[in-house]
Amino acid sequence: MNKPFRTLLALGAALTVSVSLAAQAGPDVVIPAVSSYTLTSGTFTPGEISRDNPALKFRIGDRKFRDTTPGAYTLSIKPKGITIRTADERGAFYALETLRQMADAGDGVLACCEVTDRPRYPHRSLMFDVVRHFRSKEAVLRQLDAMAMVKMSRMHFHLTDNEGFRIRLDCCPDVARKTAFGDARSFHDILSTTYSYTPADEPEGYVTGTYYDDGKICGGYYSKDDIREILAYAAERHIEIIPEIEMPGHNRALLSARPELFCTGDTHPRNNVVCVTKEETYAFFEAVLKEVAELFPSEYIHIGGDEADKANWKACDRCRETMAREGLTSVDQLQSRFIRRIEKSLNAMGKKLIGWDEILEGGLSENATVMSWRGSAGGAKSIAMEHDVIMTPNTYYYFDYCQDAPYKEPRAFNACLPLRHVYSYDPEKDIAGILGEAYTPALARHILGVQANLWTECVITDPHFEYMLWPRAFAVAETGWSEAPKDYDRFRRNCERLCGRLRAMGINSFDLSTEVGERKAALPEIPRLTQDAKVFYRFGNGSTRSHVPQLADGHLGGWSTRDTTQWVSTGSGRVQMIMDLGKEQPLHYIGVEMAEYPLRKRFFPNKIEFSVSRDGVKYTPVAIDMPRWREGRKDFQIVTVGTTVSGEARYIRINMELVRSGAYLSEIIVN
Ligand SMILES: [Zn+2]
Repeated sequence: MNKPFRTLLALGAALTVSVSLAAQAGPDVVIPAVSSYTLTSGTFTPGEISRDNPALKFRIGDRKFRDTTPGAYTLSIKPKGITIRTADERGAFYALETLRQMADAGDGVLACCEVTDRPRYPHRSLMFDVVRHFRSKEAVLRQLDAMAMVKMSRMHFHLTDNEGFRIRLDCCPDVARKTAFGDARSFHDILSTTYSYTPADEPEGYVTGTYYDDGKICGGYYSKDDIREILAYAAERHIEIIPEIEMPGHNRALLSARPELFCTGDTHPRNNVVCVTKEETYAFFEAVLKEVAELFPSEYIHIGGDEADKANWKACDRCRETMAREGLTSVDQLQSRFIRRIEKSLNAMGKKLIGWDEILEGGLSENATVMSWRGSAGGAKSIAMEHDVIMTPNTYYYFDYCQDAPYKEPRAFNACLPLRHVYSYDPEKDIAGILGEAYTPALARHILGVQANLWTECVITDPHFEYMLWPRAFAVAETGWSEAPKDYDRFRRNCERLCGRLRAMGINSFDLSTEVGERKAALPEIPRLTQDAKVFYRFGNGSTRSHVPQLADGHLGGWSTRDTTQWVSTGSGRVQMIMDLGKEQPLHYIGVEMAEYPLRKRFFPNKIEFSVSRDGVKYTPVAIDMPRWREGRKDFQIVTVGTTVSGEARYIRINMELVRSGAYLSEIIVN
């Protein structure tokens, strides 16, 4: 809007109503959607949205304001000014953010309205994996700015893992210095099958909190001062940081610096799991946790607990002795014993324990909060046991998965989770759906909130990190905050506008205007003769099934091979599928659509044979040229292998040989 026009708007109320309709903004432009609002008449142009603007009246701790939910507030926007009521400073901070988004969308002009707003869950969070690839301190601070903009309340800081210990603590300063740097070539390709982590000592002159890469060595870590700076920045934005120190698995880096924490005995099949029956192990982690507990004000500390391969413990003299002495019958119970002891130490430090859903295995410790990542089953199970949970299912909230058609996206860890899908998640509906009749609304109080995780095996640079986060993180913010009905079209429009604001802040978001969406070929039903067909299969993993409807449903596969309504995952070895069309039919084409994803160790078959039969007994082979697969390929691709045929048949048999791994199949195509 030009300046004289804006002046006119400020001059006359009548003019304002008639000409400002296009520019003024009501609360429906805000992410996360406000809980409720009513539009009244008129507009108001407040100028700069800040605590110092006298047009904004703050009533903090107002007796008339009775909502005790931290962060709740009301806004009253009238033609003469704005009144903000809230119980706490946090509410005032959130109210200002709502006003800022409205002012941005309305070119400074706000529609008069009454807004009542409060968060649905206390935990509205993102997890940053700064281990697989290190993130500069500046990049972390930038994301905190963006998170504050959409009222996110927590950040989960994944600080240690196989590839490095990225916090330098006084109790073990050498561990960060010896493990946070490594051979750059392999580091840039963590997911390659040849990846080998070769730790290097801290390069001379290294500045903490920065990413180091001289072409040979790369990595980085945070000093305690860096962490203090990040914590202070977050606190100003009402964001709490929950640190994670991984144990007992995911500790290859630590074990390279502290080999004495390994199991005793000759063989250690796993190089990343500590011995959980050595006192040295407890002494090490308790010292680390004590220092971390003093540094981070959060009431929570995350201890990982995921993906600990327990093979070492089975081979360890000391672990076996302990199991025999204490009557433990499985190594899962040994993990549980470890987590319980760590929880006791944490509780004594005044902290609560959070762990990934594997901490359920072998028995959950008393007061643990569970982060449900392997889908939602772990969360549902924990809630049924009246434990608090944070929902971060990889089926919706794993931002290392790509967000659009894989052919146009950077290499991603797994299949496709577009914005619409992320937005569609509702934790309470999800849990209620799994628990069925066992679910009561009273259990909902154990849902602390939602979180997206950004693992960084494939995410090397800070701009790439931001690209994976935004705008999908807006969907997490809205689901965590708002109980207003979901409206994807409104949300997407608001995302496009907020992405503009991110770009102005120097943040590199995914560009929604380039979104391709679901694979076009997967949308319509394809022409076929398989309407009445049944598919019988015997897979390499020994499973047999009498009918696999996905393979004859007339729909090709979408971008997401995780979608089991579209894709069937085979085992490796010999795979046989026999399709019965129900009656003899004249055929002119047979084929099968499949996907390959070397990053996830899924490869096309080495050999495919088609044959047809009238009676299901005597089969006639159909000649087919095997495609020549390109060696060394890494990225996701979908291919149809098929051939024209002539003649009549009722049965089609497909034999495959999969030497390296299973494949994904979406459809057997017959015409
Ligand atoms: Zn052991």
